[in-house]
Amino acid sequence: MFSYVIIGTGFAGSVLAERIATQLNKKVLMIEKRNHVGGNAYDSYDSQGILIHNYGPHIFHTKIKKVWDYLSNFTDWYLYHHKVLGVIDGKKVPIPFNLNSIHQVFPKNLAERMEKKLIENFGYNKKVPILKLREAEDKDLKFLADYIYENVFLGYTTKQWGVTPEELDPSVTGRVPVYVSRDDRYFQDHYQGMPKEGYTKLFERMLNHENIKILLNTDYKEVLQFDLETGEAKLFGQKFSGKIIYTGPIDYFFNYKFGQLPYRSLNFVFEQFNQEQVQEVGTVNYPNDYNFTRITEFKHLTNQSSDKTTTVKEFSQEYIPGENIPYYPIKNDRNLELYRLYREEVRKYDNLIFIGRLAEYQYYDMDMVVAKALKIFEERIAK
Ligand code: FAD
Repeated sequence: MFSYVIIGTGFAGSVLAERIATQLNKKVLMIEKRNHVGGNAYDSYDSQGILIHNYGPHIFHTKIKKVWDYLSNFTDWYLYHHKVLGVIDGKKVPIPFNLNSIHQVFPKNLAERMEKKLIENFGYNKKVPILKLREAEDKDLKFLADYIYENVFLGYTTKQWGVTPEELDPSVTGRVPVYVSRDDRYFQDHYQGMPKEGYTKLFERMLNHENIKILLNTDYKEVLQFDLETGEAKLFGQKFSGKIIYTGPIDYFFNYKFGQLPYRSLNFVFEQFNQEQVQEVGTVNYPNDYNFTRITEFKHLTNQSSDKTTTVKEFSQEYIPGENIPYYPIKNDRNLELYRLYREEVRKYDNLIFIGRLAEYQYYDMDMVVAKALKIFEERIAK
């Protein structure tokens, strides 16, 4: 009866379910181990009626018109531009560290020299990876690079990843730039916003189709058995000859046969306040103080009006399978080699499609995972 089984109801699984159900008119069974759809983008109202992001703050931003247009079928948007401040030497300065931050932190003459040299060397409106700036030979730029490295980058990165920046793949550290600009926004993408009624409503609209059935609170292995020898699958004990789209952890699918893929996990501590607002922007980073990395106040993101407010503090922690949630893949040569071994296994079966942040051991922003799902639909499923 079902042509597809999709494991996981985050963006990867949900986009594909919606496409298959509406464009191919085929039946889809979605299996989700949590008690809700939406994966990590899930949001809900807390006990004081504030819309919170249960798995950490999610801000939507994309350069890809196709992705924005596609999601706009399921939501209107609150046009929000995220801003982040970092507490550096007791001052709150714009993050990523930019020309405004420089003028807030350094004496006027020095700040002006740095600004001039940054623009001369890298151009205005350019993002310079912090590790690249450290290679500068000019005395002022070298001083700036070392200052940012010590005060903004090192503490945050070490807290977040539990290792020094040099031990991480450059694609992770490369994400942290110095921004040669006066633009205080955290993202510069053409399309930025938050789903007006929240992400969960967006997912519910996406998945509300007669061809889509959703089984919550179920680890897929309880109902679907995949024989790794033969590639044959059984769904509820019956032979299943449709396709399986898997968005869970790739190592779990293969029973950790090559070992576990390491991740970083997070502990979220929500705090409720009986006042309208507690911080001036959506997120404040604490690179050097305390043992949490950042605090986000949801009402900035969602534009909700209330005389109460809720924040979330993020504590980075080691991932322990079965105890907490894998959030960020730890990319380094060893781990990517391990992932490659699993990836080779997937290729042996033509009834499997692996997609998403866990199945591809890849940090994806939401827009990138939507783009990937739309591409897979067009190139591998609808063709
Ligand atoms: P997920 O959303 O993780 O969905 C996978 C689903 O599979 C989950 O629901 C899971 O329960 C289910 N599953 C796993 N194993 C099984 C199993 N054995 N059986 C059944 N179901 C299973 N992106 C942005 O664009 N902007 C942001 O601001 C942003 N902030 C983020 C903040 C944090 C703290 C984190 C961790 C990520 C953030 N992201 C952000 C990234 C975003 O969360 C991902 O792009 C998105 O979740 C990827 O979707 P997915 O479907 O691949 O994975």
